[in-house]
Amino acid sequence: MSDLKKRGRLVVVSGPSGVGKGTVLKYVLENEDFVYSVSATTREKRKGEENAVDYFFMSKEDFSGMIERDEFIEYACYNGNFYGTPKFFVEDMLSQGKNVILEIEVKGAVQIKSLVPGAVFVFIAPQSKSGLAERLRARGTEEESVVANRLAIAENEIRSCLMYDYIVVNRDGMAQECAKDIIAAVKAHNLKPENVYSDICEFFN
Ligand code: 5GP
Repeated sequence: MSDLKKRGRLVVVSGPSGVGKGTVLKYVLENEDFVYSVSATTREKRKGEENAVDYFFMSKEDFSGMIERDEFIEYACYNGNFYGTPKFFVEDMLSQGKNVILEIEVKGAVQIKSLVPGAVFVFIAPQSKSGLAERLRARGTEEESVVANRLAIAENEIRSCLMYDYIVVNRDGMAQECAKDIIAAVKAHNLKPENVYSDICEFFN
């Protein structure tokens, strides 16, 4: 009998800046079935960030070159900088049966929704608005005007959360629980009839 689990799942994770996506995803990535897709960006490297680990940091010219060569699955402009998901790694990992996490903003998620029918969409929501603002300020890596801009974007993003398949809340000190919820969401998605049906039908061919 053929094996039901063939390809990995594309897992699109969004959530406002400061919600703690990095910490939550670090826990998800401890599960060996999950890998992280490193995005390209034109934004400045922050303190402590590493090229090819956090992002592929590049010039606007190089980013435009990748767009022209059709090397992105999706890309978007966020807060004045470009961000995009390179194709090469994602396809390779999916075919190896790994679930590939894209940590991207809402406009990029909308593009994936129309391009990749089987993808699963998870939104990480903050516990409260004040907590989110506090975390953004505590990060101390950006000026107050950038923080205000990110909060305004966050409000819009939270309004878009209904387009996601699952919403998980990152409560204070509960990032590990939030990660477990994401893994559970992917498992649940894999069990939906529309995602299993064609594989089961193959048994009888
Ligand atoms: P940050 O500058 O805080 O690292 O990221 C800003 C926003 O860009 C976050 O919401 C993050 O999820 C999003 N982002 C990161 N990589 C990508 C990408 O490849 N594509 C899109 N559309 N958004 C991304």
